[in-house]
Amino acid sequence: MQIIAHGGVGGTREQDGCVEEALEKGSKGTETPLEAVVGVVRELEDDPIFNAGTGSRIRLDGTIQMDAAVMTPEDIGSIAAVERVRNPILVALEVYHSPYVFLAGADVTRFARKLGYEDYDPSTEKREKELAEMKNKLKGDDKELDDLRNFYRKVGFGDTVGCVAAEDGNYAAAVSTGGTDYCIRGRVGDSPVPGAGFFVGEHGAVVTTGKGEEIIKRMTAIRCHDMIPEYGIKEACRIGVENLPEDTTLGIIAVGEEGPWADSSREMPQAKKL
Ligand code: ASP
Repeated sequence: MQIIAHGGVGGTREQDGCVEEALEKGSKGTETPLEAVVGVVRELEDDPIFNAGTGSRIRLDGTIQMDAAVMTPEDIGSIAAVERVRNPILVALEVYHSPYVFLAGADVTRFARKLGYEDYDPSTEKREKELAEMKNKLKGDDKELDDLRNFYRKVGFGDTVGCVAAEDGNYAAAVSTGGTDYCIRGRVGDSPVPGAGFFVGEHGAVVTTGKGEEIIKRMTAIRCHDMIPEYGIKEACRIGVENLPEDTTLGIIAVGEEGPWADSSREMPQAKKL
């Protein structure tokens, strides 16, 4: 099986080792690309250095809302703004196996509890400290409008996780995130949006990372996927990465007939298995 995973554009290649460890552990003994991508993302969620599951970024109001998704050519399972669960990717997999495709908000948390996912606090001291620093940097009072203005000016990202895998022409993708810095409750980025944060089709599997708002506007994952037959996987990823405004960054991992590939406009921790 061919697998490639990332730990968020804007991170550092010094974290490659952590991604590699999660890739090895999470894919061990798995038999399908779907099992592998879920296993790897679950490991990355449990590593507190990444912005997914434990160690997710904290919103400006002090809460954590997480997004996750899985996809194969057969089906999609996507969740947005789930709260207080340990592994959002496992809840996304439950949606994948359900008659639904996308669940959001308080109801997805209720859905998770009904299925036995226990209450879990994913916050860490490091993220609490980052939130305090963000609040210090905010100018003006704490009215929501100021939060919104600050979000558009200062939004920072990184540490989101994703994985794609292939075996004998079968493809799967998984992605998980706690969102961005300066994020208000209810904000959803590209990660759980099919076609934007991830896509799987006959030419391969693609996952993106970066400023979700720009990625959604460009539907980066499906566009990259659709370019694979004409341009090849490397060029498709490069074109996808370059199609962004100057002030933001983007990373893409993909796997197709030619194998796994990654491209990004800034450092992006990553690991692959051929
Ligand atoms: N794409 C994620 C989001 O906008 C952030 C990231 O990739 O770091 O929520």
